[in-house]
Amino acid sequence: MKRLREVLSEAQENKVAIGHFNISDFTGLKAVIEAASELHLPVIVGLSEGERAFIGVRESFAMVQVLREEHDCPIFLNADHTHSLASAENAARAGFDSIVFDRSELPFAQNILETRQAVRTLKQINPSILIEGEIGEIGTGSEIHEEALQGLRLTTPEEAREFVAATGIDILAPAVGNTHGLSRSMIRGETQKRLDISLIAEIGKATGLFMTLHGASGTNDGDLRLAIQAGITEIHINTELRLAWRRGLETAFATDRDQVVPYKLLPTAVNAMKQVVRARLSLFSGRQEVGAHG
Ligand SMILES: [Zn+2]
Repeated sequence: MKRLREVLSEAQENKVAIGHFNISDFTGLKAVIEAASELHLPVIVGLSEGERAFIGVRESFAMVQVLREEHDCPIFLNADHTHSLASAENAARAGFDSIVFDRSELPFAQNILETRQAVRTLKQINPSILIEGEIGEIGTGSEIHEEALQGLRLTTPEEAREFVAATGIDILAPAVGNTHGLSRSMIRGETQKRLDISLIAEIGKATGLFMTLHGASGTNDGDLRLAIQAGITEIHINTELRLAWRRGLETAFATDRDQVVPYKLLPTAVNAMKQVVRARLSLFSGRQEVGAHG
């Protein structure tokens, strides 16, 4: 299997992005891998600290490792939003391909210090692991919010250049209009997140690094395509999948109220999530027209 660095380099060159999807259990993992495998596209499976606490760090790696042997698409494992070095070290030792070391809530200078230390320590555990750092504000919580988050501080090209040079990270997660979670009006289809495309291009030019777009659920499809053209190489989708999971389960429960067999109920949730993953992967890989997934 190719390494994540190679796959991201190819994405950068071909102006496509690799889809990153968060999972909380095997139902989600099954949906992500089946969709990627059917489309023959590489995919990144992500687990935040909360998701890792539920599944288990070594358990997630073991599941992905088995699936790699059974599917012909490259599958990578990312430790998403990791807020402590100890937790990052755990993921690195367990065999994760990349780690989002997120100290963006700290003052800039402190974020630099801690991220630089993390890069050094984690590369000693695994020299080929990729470390992603984050600056600016994109909000927390891949869940449903009453209102869209507003007034968040975007990343500037100057601080991006300084942060990248000082920390030695491999991937940058900028704040360019993206936010975690979905607002109720986004779920109703009345509003969409919009991205600052020229800012993405400027940050890309200033750093030359791979860039990840977090919190892409509910984003305008045209903006996502332009963001990829401007240099985004990895896109995170979580809340859209969580919403599909819940709706899938609700449909399954409502369809047969006496059904108690999990493997007869859960495929509805798998299929609902798969549709989201397929549509997003198609868009990110440039195989689908903008707005075609509805
Ligand atoms: Zn994120």
